[in-house]
Amino acid sequence: MELIDNHTHLQDEPFRGKEEFYLERAQKLGVTKMICAGQDPDFNERAIDLSQRFEPVYAMVGYCPDVAQEYDQAAEDKLIEQLQIPGVVAMGEIGLDYYWDEAPRSVQRAVFARQLEVAHELKMPVDIHTRDAFADCYQILKDSNLEYGAVLHSFNGNPEWLEKFMDLNVNFSYSGVVSFTKAKEVHEAVKKTPLERLLIETDAPFLTPKPYRGRQNEPGNVYYVARAIAELKQVPLTEVAEATYANTMRVYGLK
Ligand SMILES: [Zn+2]
Repeated sequence: MELIDNHTHLQDEPFRGKEEFYLERAQKLGVTKMICAGQDPDFNERAIDLSQRFEPVYAMVGYCPDVAQEYDQAAEDKLIEQLQIPGVVAMGEIGLDYYWDEAPRSVQRAVFARQLEVAHELKMPVDIHTRDAFADCYQILKDSNLEYGAVLHSFNGNPEWLEKFMDLNVNFSYSGVVSFTKAKEVHEAVKKTPLERLLIETDAPFLTPKPYRGRQNEPGNVYYVARAIAELKQVPLTEVAEATYANTMRVYGLK
C-alpha cells in the first residue's frame, strides 16, 4: 500500500534538520511521496530546497492570503521562474482567509485570481486554501479557467458546498479533521465525495488526526487520515489508498 500526503509543511520549523527522520517514519506507514506546500517567499524557497534534496518530496509555491499584500510584479516573476523547476508541481497554497483577515479581502481576492491566471498560463494545477470564504472562493474559481486542475486543501465544507464545488474542475483533499468526532459536516461531505475526486493530506505540523490528536502532526500520519476516510465510507483502506494515490499522481502530474 502506498500513500501520498498531498499537502504538508516539512519545511516548517519543527522538522528542520530532521527531515530524514520524518521521511523514514512516513515510509514505514506506506507514505512514499509528499508535496510540500509553499505560502510565502521563505516557505517557497524551503519547499523547493527539500524537493531537490529528497526524492519523495515535491514542492508547490505561491502567495497565501496572509501575505497577499506582498504580491507584486517581482514576486510574480520569481514564482514563474520557480514553477518551472523540476519537482515543483503546483501553485499553492493560494486562496482566501477571512478568518485571520491578515490582508484586506479585496487584495486577497485580486491576488488569488491573478495567481490562478498565472498557473493557467503555465499549465499548472493549483492548491487552494479557503477559510470562512466559500462564497467568494467559489465565485473566483467559477470565473477562472481550471483546465489544469485544482485541489481544495483541507476541505471542511458541508455537503451543500461540496455539491456546488463538484460542478467545477476541483478535487477535495481531506486532512486529520475527518478523524475528529465532532466534525459531523465534514464526515457527511467525505461520504458524498466520489473516490475519484478525493485526496488526502496532513497539513503537518497542524491538524493531527486521531489517535495522535494533541501531538505535533507529521507526514506519516496521512495513513490515519486514509483510515478514517475508509471507516466513514465503509470501504477497505486499500481502496482509499489506491484511489487517492492515483488521483494525486494525476492531478499534480507526478511521475
Ligand atoms: Zn498548509
